[in-house]
Amino acid sequence: MNNTGIVRSNLYLEHFAGDWHPESPKRLEVIHNYLDSNFIPGLQFLKPRAASREEITLVHDQNHYDLIAQTTSQPQCYLDADTQTCARSFEAALFAAGGLILLVEKVLNGELDNGFALVRPPGHHAEASRPMGFCLFNNIAIAAAWALKERGLSRIMIIDWDLHHGNGTQHSFYEDPRVLYFSTHLYPFYPGTGSFSETGKGQGKGYTVNVPMDPKQDDKDFVAIFQKIAQPLIKTYRPELILVSAGFDTHVADPMQGMTVTPEGYAAMTYILKTMAEKICDGKLVLTLEGGYHFMGQADSVLKVLEVLTGSSSVGKELADTDWPEPVVINRVRKVHNTFWGL
Ligand SMILES: [Zn+2]
Repeated sequence: MNNTGIVRSNLYLEHFAGDWHPESPKRLEVIHNYLDSNFIPGLQFLKPRAASREEITLVHDQNHYDLIAQTTSQPQCYLDADTQTCARSFEAALFAAGGLILLVEKVLNGELDNGFALVRPPGHHAEASRPMGFCLFNNIAIAAAWALKERGLSRIMIIDWDLHHGNGTQHSFYEDPRVLYFSTHLYPFYPGTGSFSETGKGQGKGYTVNVPMDPKQDDKDFVAIFQKIAQPLIKTYRPELILVSAGFDTHVADPMQGMTVTPEGYAAMTYILKTMAEKICDGKLVLTLEGGYHFMGQADSVLKVLEVLTGSSSVGKELADTDWPEPVVINRVRKVHNTFWGL
């Protein structure tokens, strides 16, 4: 059984982007209710801290920090077509990034084996100089940059299984081989990035691996991609830490209607990553919440992922251990990345 850290706070419920907005506090409320009514042994709850200005600006420029900070006094600000803030959003965003850093710190220290930061607002679309797609600060990029700088790590792998491509995360490390970014996403789709040909630049060439997918792919397609692409990448790259942008908008019931993943599918992907992390980096695996808009489907999936992280059930194991037929996208990724990774 593992010690699995959970970052949890009601402060994350205070970021509110408008009545109509799908990225609503209810997303987390339902997860909290599920956690309260389903005991999972091995979970340790962490109270988050705020990220400092210095930590946020490891990824974002000073103007970006100031832009978000200035929203504090205003009941509502429109930052782009679908990114709004309220008076508490800046504080929630600081604690989202800070909560993830705290969790990464405790996992790197060995105080916790692995963990899941249940934070909002999400982060993976936020660029260095602009908020975007419901995201204010890029939580996962900030936590990775923190681990590179403060802990001297030299190889971090970021896995992004959200329905959408994590443009902000990709761009944060596009020329940096210290972070290998791997993303499965619907393509073409918002935000428009994430094609096969985006593979990194300069020193970072080959360290961005995109898996642009057709719609309606299911558990076995995702598991096959994780078995045939993610697993060998981890084996070859040998990351010291694996971070996951865990979005649940690929869920079969999600209103985005992009993919048909079930809670067992997320459990299987987690199982594959956890097994690899235990082989390669002493189990150091940290997830952070990104998108996911079917409240019950997301909460059920988060619970199953936590059961895998703690090792309290064998959910997902059978799915993860079965050899599934390869979706065609796998060969296309192989062709692009054969020279880099010999997949
Ligand atoms: Zn998404």
